[in-house]
Amino acid sequence: MKQVYELGYDVKTTRGVVKPNEYEVDENDCWVCISHYGVNKEKSKRPVFLKSGKIVVLARAIFEHHKKRKIKKGMSILHFCDNERCINPNHLREGTQRDNIQDMVSRGRANPCKGESHKKARLTDKEVYEIKKLMLHKNYSTAELSSFFGVNEGTIRRIKRGESWKHVTLED
Ligand SMILES: [Zn+2]
Repeated sequence: MKQVYELGYDVKTTRGVVKPNEYEVDENDCWVCISHYGVNKEKSKRPVFLKSGKIVVLARAIFEHHKKRKIKKGMSILHFCDNERCINPNHLREGTQRDNIQDMVSRGRANPCKGESHKKARLTDKEVYEIKKLMLHKNYSTAELSSFFGVNEGTIRRIKRGESWKHVTLED
C-alpha cells in the first residue's frame, strides 16, 4: 500500500516536478521510495530531490526531520538494512564514509580482493556529466561524490580540477 512521508515542504524531482514523497513498506519493514530516483535516475540508487535548487538525498532530509536536528558535519547517512532506496528513519544511522565502506565490505557489496580498487575504476560519460552537474550545485563534498559513484576521491578531484574527462561538458 502506498504511503506518504510528509517533510512539511514541497519535494521536487530533479526535473523540478513537485511530487508527494511516496513509499511502500516491504517484508523487511523497509520504506521503499517509489516517487523519487537516484542522481542518474537510477532506481537502485538512493533517492534524491531538489530543495531550493540543490540536490538533497531524501534519506538525509528524512533523518533530520525525524531526529529534529541537523546531521553532524561531514557525516553520511547509512542504512542498517542495506537498501539504498529505503527511507524508514529507523533503518538510518549517522556514520562516516569509512563506516560506509566497511559496511559495504562486510556485506559483500564491495570486492575485498582488489583492496582499494574495490571501488569501480571506470565512470561512464553520463556519470561524469552527473558529477559535473552536482559539483555545480556545490552541495556535495568530494567524499560524498566518491561514495555515490563508487570511485576514489582522487578521481573526483581530477574531474573537479579539469584534469580528466575534459570531453564531458555541461551545456547549461
Ligand atoms: Zn530499510
